[in-house]
Amino acid sequence: DIVISIKDFNAWYGNNNALSDVNMNIKRNAITAFIGPSGCGKTTLLRSINRMNDVINGYRCSGIIKMDNIEVTDSDLDTLEIRRKIGMVFQDPNAFPMSIYDNLKLPIVENFSNIEKKRINEIIIEKLKDAALYDEVKDRLHKSALKISGGQQQRLCIARALTIEPKVILFDEPCSSLDPIATLKIEELLVQLKEKYTVVIVTHNMEQARRIADDVAFFYKGEVVEQGASEKIFTTP
Ligand code: ADP
Ligand code: ADP
Repeated sequence: DIVISIKDFNAWYGNNNALSDVNMNIKRNAITAFIGPSGCGKTTLLRSINRMNDVINGYRCSGIIKMDNIEVTDSDLDTLEIRRKIGMVFQDPNAFPMSIYDNLKLPIVENFSNIEKKRINEIIIEKLKDAALYDEVKDRLHKSALKISGGQQQRLCIARALTIEPKVILFDEPCSSLDPIATLKIEELLVQLKEKYTVVIVTHNMEQARRIADDVAFFYKGEVVEQGASEKIFTTP
């Protein structure tokens, strides 16, 4: 079952052709990893999937990206419609300087108008549990989110991404600022999340992709040079 399909996709920053002729199908309820050296276009493709690159001066693209029945690349499409279906988690945890509770409340009230306080509470608890963070922070929900560890902040950012009930969650190098133990926790979490969501992760960590990805796309100089099932890619001599 395919959730995102990418057809003949090209992207440029000015004259720099950052992606050329990318074709890819991303499977539902699976982890797809984009791997390859720095500067080869992984983040550009990730950010093209939720139209985040639109704001960059000089950025343009051609080709088609579809998510289920939505044509993401349609220039007439309201990008908010896409952002409500695609969550995003960044390299450095970007917890907001407010309480843990308010970090989660913010996107909920933004997304569901006139929602009751009781329902907000329920969603916050549910998403903290889904992000394997609830037990660690349940006694300090009204304390600053900046006081918890980097790994906990990253799981908070994941919980925040989950509050909008996205179909797909995009992760841009989510572990690169974390220590090995915090990294393993996030990896375990991603494997759990694919039961409910579709996960796409950019990583330059080959071992990480080998540990958690179902499918892998290997980028080199703006092209996807190899893609397929992880066990197949990683056993090729
Ligand atoms: P990464 O390899 O993790 O994507 P980079 O260091 O390449 O990180 O990029 C960091 C930020 O700088 C990103 O937001 C990226 O879009 C931007 N960036 C990268 N290359 C350029 C460039 N040539 N000109 C302007 N901005 C750039
Ligand atoms: P990766 O994620 O694999 O490190 P990127 O997608 O960040 O690669 O970068 C692909 C190419 O696009 C690089 O040549 C990079 O310098 C360029 N690039 C990335 N972001 C920007 C930006 N905001 N402005 C200009 N060029 C960029």
